[in-house]
Amino acid sequence: MLPTRTNTPDVITFDEEGRKSTRIKLKRACNGCAQSLGDADNRDVDDRGNLTDVRAECPNCAPVVALEQAGCRTWQLTVRNIGGVDRALDSYGVFAKGYWQPDVDGKNRVVGLRIGDGLDRQVAYFEDWIIRHPDGRIDIHRKPAAAPSV
Ligand SMILES: [Zn+2]
Repeated sequence: MLPTRTNTPDVITFDEEGRKSTRIKLKRACNGCAQSLGDADNRDVDDRGNLTDVRAECPNCAPVVALEQAGCRTWQLTVRNIGGVDRALDSYGVFAKGYWQPDVDGKNRVVGLRIGDGLDRQVAYFEDWIIRHPDGRIDIHRKPAAAPSV
């Protein structure tokens, strides 16, 4: 079990000439939903220099990690991977297609993936997590409303 992260607040100081400076401690954002987790530390980089998966520390994303450990297949839907996720769902025999909605200027744009048919269909929006349980059931784990875009 990793120690709890510190979360050092920014320190704003003014020198004798009134110049403002802000001292910050580098923060780590969750790689699943972009919410800040606290101060970055050695756990955030592996021995090859890659950022580590810290979703298990995140109150929003920890349930997704637990489902993965229980054998679920998960995808975080993004603009870049929607085609691959669609194909992966198709390979499991799950119907999926782009879900369109009008945006602010009235133009229709793909905002996610419609999964399933008929009354059981669900919509995963970009940045939501799609979870396929071992029994074939599909759930959507929503991006937290307050999270910044990843
Ligand atoms: Zn998260």
